[in-house]
Amino acid sequence: MVAKCPVCGYRFDSSLSQTCGGCPVGSDCERICCPNCHYGWIESTPLVNKLMYLFRKEKAVGRS
Ligand SMILES: [Zn+2]
Repeated sequence: MVAKCPVCGYRFDSSLSQTCGGCPVGSDCERICCPNCHYGWIESTPLVNKLMYLFRKEKAVGRS
């Protein structure tokens, strides 16, 4: 998915740079960081929500 930085307008693939250094949530973090100006923001999309839903569902099944 292509994300556009609201600060500098730089476009990049958000799937390649979802995590920020120092973020305690790690790879599950929904925060997107601009590789150009390092601004970080949360961008919730229907696709992300769907993936998160599937992930949680899978986790719940594995627990039982
Ligand atoms: Zn930027």
